[in-house]
Amino acid sequence: MTTRGHHPAVLLPVLVCVFLGLAAAITSSVVAVLLPDSGHHGSRDSSRHDLANGQSVYVFASRKAGYTLWSVTGPMESSVADALDELRSRKIPLRQGDPRPAWLRRAVVLQGDPETAALAPQNSRGIAAGWPLLCLRGRTDRNVNLRPQSHDAGIAWVTVGQAKRAFPWHPLWWGLLGNTVVYGSAMLSCWYASVYAFRAIRRWRGRCPACGYPTDGNSSRCPECGTPRRASDQATGTGSSASATVACSSSLQTTSTLTSKSSSSDDR
Ligand SMILES: [Zn+2]
Repeated sequence: MTTRGHHPAVLLPVLVCVFLGLAAAITSSVVAVLLPDSGHHGSRDSSRHDLANGQSVYVFASRKAGYTLWSVTGPMESSVADALDELRSRKIPLRQGDPRPAWLRRAVVLQGDPETAALAPQNSRGIAAGWPLLCLRGRTDRNVNLRPQSHDAGIAWVTVGQAKRAFPWHPLWWGLLGNTVVYGSAMLSCWYASVYAFRAIRRWRGRCPACGYPTDGNSSRCPECGTPRRASDQATGTGSSASATVACSSSLQTTSTLTSKSSSSDDR
């Protein structure tokens, strides 16, 4: 308790800023979902990924700030995929490779007969949001031919205005950690900057930095709250007032010199 005046508390601000940083990370994901699609800043790319069993998967990835949507079609037979290549390559250049993140590559969970379900093309959509790092994810899977109902994982559908929005809520742990560190440390810096600025102002006004009580230059502790004064403050406590007197008298001299100069210039 005796060091209260010297060092601001550490544990409480850190805990508060971790909590607020986490809240800001989650908020960034919500804001990214709600941001309108901007055709100029967003980007789209499509790619075809051939699986080992002779089937193919199509992935369309569209991105805007803090938001990525992967639309996956497949798996489908290679002959069907070739026909689709013809159609799609005219509009959007096609790349090879699988741009799906690992959590989107996992097998689609389907209800019903697994044999027929495995052959039918599926649409699955993966959504990840968050800024500066993607920090929350979700996917929604639908079997195109067999069943209309979708299987959602980590998606909350919310009607905003007239549109239904898909908010992801499964954590992407590294993104969540990174965003929490970014936002939390920014808040912590602001916290300490304001604490130190506040104390510096009190000290400059000759008051106790902890409680604001006016201190005299000689005592080693604040008479009000008992906070020990800094050694540097005590050393300059009497010295500063003495130097202030000197500075004051010298400024008086300067003023008088200036006055005499100006008066002499007026005479001419
Ligand atoms: Zn005090």
